[in-house]
Amino acid sequence: MTQRNTIQKELVLDAVNHLHNHATADEVYEFIQATHSHISKGTVYRNLNCLAEEGKIRKLEIPNGPDRFDHICSTHYHIHCCKCGRVFDVDMEEVSDLRDKVKDKHGFNFLNYDIMFQGICPDCQKK
Ligand SMILES: [Zn+2]
Ligand SMILES: [Zn+2]
Repeated sequence: MTQRNTIQKELVLDAVNHLHNHATADEVYEFIQATHSHISKGTVYRNLNCLAEEGKIRKLEIPNGPDRFDHICSTHYHIHCCKCGRVFDVDMEEVSDLRDKVKDKHGFNFLNYDIMFQGICPDCQKK
């Protein structure tokens, strides 16, 4: 990996950490544009996916919406606002024996799971 690539990757990681809000790739791109206007959208997208593969950030796939990127990689649950599309962390402890409770008929060895609740956020409820 070249020096330039490393710097770009760090910029993208910093942006996700700074935005702190499960940002979309476009939001990360806009944030970086403000200070580093030479970085292309393709570079931002590529680095986001790369960081997610490396486990440095978490990629959240949103039904009917763009992927979002989370700086918190430990297990936690999310709620997606169906109106504005924002994603929030759910404030609760991890259900520790959830995996053991899930029964499998197909012989799977469970590796991972994502829980995404759907709802309407307080801001959208006011509208
Ligand atoms: Zn909302
Ligand atoms: Zn989160």
